[in-house]
Order: sequence, then structure tokens, then C-alpha cells
Amino acid sequence: MRKLWLSSYGCQMNERDSEEVLGMLTAQGYEMASEPEAADVILLNTCSVRQHAEERAFGKMGELSALKKERPKLILGIIGCMAKLQQDAIFKRLPTVDLVAGPAELYDLPYLLAEIQEQRQSMNGGSVNDRVMAVGRPFRPLHQRPPGDYRTPGVTAFVTIMEGCDKACTYCIVPRTRGQEISRPAQDIIEEIDRLVAAGYREMTLLGQNVNSYGKRFPDGTGYKGPLGRLRLLEEDPETLLDFPQLLRLIQRRTSVPRVRFTTSHPFDATERLFAAMRDCPSVCESLHLPVQSGSDRILRAMRRGYTAHAYLKKIEQLRRDVPDISLSTDIIVGFPGETDQDFDATIRLMRDVGYDNAYVFKYSPRPGTDAAARDDDVPHDVKEHRNQTLLALQQDMLQRKQRSLLGTTTELLIEGPGKRPQQWFGRTRGYLGAIIDHHEPLTGRFIHARITRYAGSTLFGERTDVS
Ligand code: SAM
Ligand code: SF4
Repeated sequence: MRKLWLSSYGCQMNERDSEEVLGMLTAQGYEMASEPEAADVILLNTCSVRQHAEERAFGKMGELSALKKERPKLILGIIGCMAKLQQDAIFKRLPTVDLVAGPAELYDLPYLLAEIQEQRQSMNGGSVNDRVMAVGRPFRPLHQRPPGDYRTPGVTAFVTIMEGCDKACTYCIVPRTRGQEISRPAQDIIEEIDRLVAAGYREMTLLGQNVNSYGKRFPDGTGYKGPLGRLRLLEEDPETLLDFPQLLRLIQRRTSVPRVRFTTSHPFDATERLFAAMRDCPSVCESLHLPVQSGSDRILRAMRRGYTAHAYLKKIEQLRRDVPDISLSTDIIVGFPGETDQDFDATIRLMRDVGYDNAYVFKYSPRPGTDAAARDDDVPHDVKEHRNQTLLALQQDMLQRKQRSLLGTTTELLIEGPGKRPQQWFGRTRGYLGAIIDHHEPLTGRFIHARITRYAGSTLFGERTDVS
């Protein structure tokens, strides 16, 4: 049996993509190898969002290339965003790589690997000429996934609801690597959630680069793209036309999944209809990741984000009216070209005004071909680093304030698995805070109520008050 070793870099979408690749290829007869040395096929699923991630992948594949000296038949592949963006550089810098396949070609992998193997058999060995580059599709045919499923064991699961991105944020490479937006038919999503619930998963995270524009374009050409579509949306008829708030309501009505999360939401498309659906659907957790990127209007404009800091804060106000306990997290980029101390102060002010439970802070990294990369990357590295550290410290303060406010309260936890010590269990609140409780019996997959007694670092500690 052929053995496959796969390593993944990057975001949650990449994690889910890797699961899909494992599922498709194991259905084709591959077995997972525990180490690259034991594999016949090695795939790196890569990320291009920042240059650092690309360099790591180049370095890793460079190391793995050494395995080919002893085993020339080994197939080495780079898949995902970097394959799309750096197709030529990969073949030039890494002559040992046999396969490059972008995110839109992920479902072609079973056939692409078979093609390389057939070529090799017919040539009785193989040469550099049998390399395959697949990067030309405009989007992934979400409705034509080859059979096979693999899931990381546990009680939480990712469910892809859309691929690609139609936005044009000036710093971001994703629209170029993942292609245009395409939404997965709702029925497929519902069926997948049903299967996952039956298999014991209790919490689903719906995935897309901008889930709030779900429904704009389906593979069969339908969707609400265009002004007429938007008007028809107001009719609220989920059977004929579906957008993201309607999808949440449909999942609530048609499945029995106890907890739903989703990521990522672009603030421009996060509307009152979304907040109302979050309020009305008991399964949807009181938790929203709403990347703001900057608190300065000047920088937001240069990033082409389509909102001002004031408009963002107004949305948070509306959301808090509908979902008072909402727990918020965000992404921030520090050191975008031209970011002054005043711009950075505006970001600090916005973060304080919102009071996030979590913030992912990124140092700006110019990406080739983006509009921002045409500008001077003029914020010195040490200034980026200092701003990064300042925001992380601020974030830690805000988290502690939140944790303090929870002391003595009782909260629902979904137990995800054992903690680090014996008879300890790790779970998450609906607001996505991690918590540990002691209990002598296994609790994985159970919903329990716990009274929060203390916190340390980013973890809450509690005592069980009931088990359901
Ligand atoms: N679609 C999501 C959204 O609109 O917020 C985010 C997707 S992106 C893969 C995840 C995060 O990476 C972004 O929110 C942004 O903060 C960060 N990011 C994207 N491009 C970047 C760049 N060139 N340099 C630094 N951080 C970047
Ligand atoms: Fe990138 Fe902007 Fe699309 Fe998010 S919305 S993936 S940041 S272009």
C-alpha cells in the first residue's frame, strides 16, 4: 500500500483542506505514514499570507528533498496557496519537487498523483520532465469533491462553506491564491453536519475567507451576486436564495448540532441580519471573530477595507444590543506602509473601546503583486516589533479583565479532551475561552456547567456544578 505523509502550514482553512486531502487519498488506497522517511508521497500544504510562512515551507521541502537521494521514486509535492503563487520559483529552487497544485486544484490530487505514477511506470523510473503543475482553475469545484473523508479525532470539526475571496484588501494575497468566491450548496453543508453529529462531533466551525458573503455565487451559477440578487434576498426565502444569516437559521432548523461557530467575518458584510440570526439561533455561540486590521481611518482606507473605525464600532454596538454576552476577537496588522505613531494610537484606542477577548497581531509583510507591495515597506522592523509587543501586552490585560469578571459565575463548557494532568479535563466556553476542571470520570464530548474559581495565563479553572 502506498504511504502518504502530509504537513500543513497556515490557517484553519488549510487545516481543513489537509483533512480533505487525507480523506480523498486514503479513499484511493493511500495509508498515512507516521514519518516522512516511511512515505511514498510527501505533500506540504502551504500558506502565502506572510513571507515567513513561505520561507519555512521552502526550508522544510529543502530538508525533505534529501530523502530522494536514497529513494528516487519518492513523490514530493507542494500544494495550497504557495503552489499557486510561487509555482515557477518552486520548480527553480527545488528541482526535486514533482508536483505543484494550487488550492483550486486540491480535488484533482488523486488524479494528478496517479498521472505522475503512470508516467513513471511507462518510463520505467522517472525524470525531471514528469513534473506536474496544476494551478489554472478559477475556483475549486466545491460540488465535485472526490469521495473520502478524514477528520481529526475530537468533538469539534471544521465545515467548509465557501472558498476564495472577492475582496481586494491591498495587503492580501488570498484573492490571488485561492481565486474567486464560490459557495458550497447548502444541502451538502447540512448533510455533512448531520454526518458529523452522528459521528459524535458537538461543535462545528463554518469556514470561509469571508463567510458573510456566503451565497453570492454557487457552482451552478445561481446566487445573489448583482443588485437584483440583493433585492431578492430581502424576500428572506431560504429555499430559493440563501445568504449567510439564512444559512445559520437553516442549520439551526435542520440539524441538531449543539454548537456552531464561524470564521472569518469581514466587518463590511457583517450586517444587522447576521446579528439577528446570531441572536435567534441557540446553537450559534456568542462569539465573533471580526478582523478590524487597524483603528486608523487613513490606514483602513489604504488597506481598502471598506469601513471606518467609527462604522466598525457602530456595528459592535448593534451586535451587543442583539447578543449582549458576545465575546469578540480580531486580527490586527501593525506596520502597514505609512503607519505613524498616531495611526497606531488609534488602533490602541479602538482595541480598548471594543475590549477583545483575543487578538491575533501580525507584522505587515509585503506580498508580491498586491497593491500595498508597490508602496515602500517603510515602518522599520524594530518599530513593527515594538507595536506588536505593545498590542500583545494590551490584549493580555484585556483577557485578564474578562477572566476576572467571570470569577464566581457559572458557565457551560464543552469538554474537548483530557487536560495536562490526570483527572483534568479541558473545555471551552461558548465565548471560546479555554477552561480546565477536575473530574474523576471521562468527560470528553460532554456539556457540563462549571463555576469559575480562578485563572492562570489564558486558562480559566472551574468546578463542575452539573453534568448533562
Ligand atoms: N479573510 C480574513 C479577513 O478578511 O479578515 C482574513 C484572512 S487572512 C488569511 C488572515 C489574517 O492575516 C488577516 O486578517 C490579516 O490580519 C493577516 N494578513 C493578511 N495579509 C497580511 C500581510 N500581507 N501581512 C501581515 N498580515 C497579513
Ligand atoms: Fe484577504 Fe481581505 Fe479577502 Fe480577508 S477579505 S482574505 S484579508 S482580501
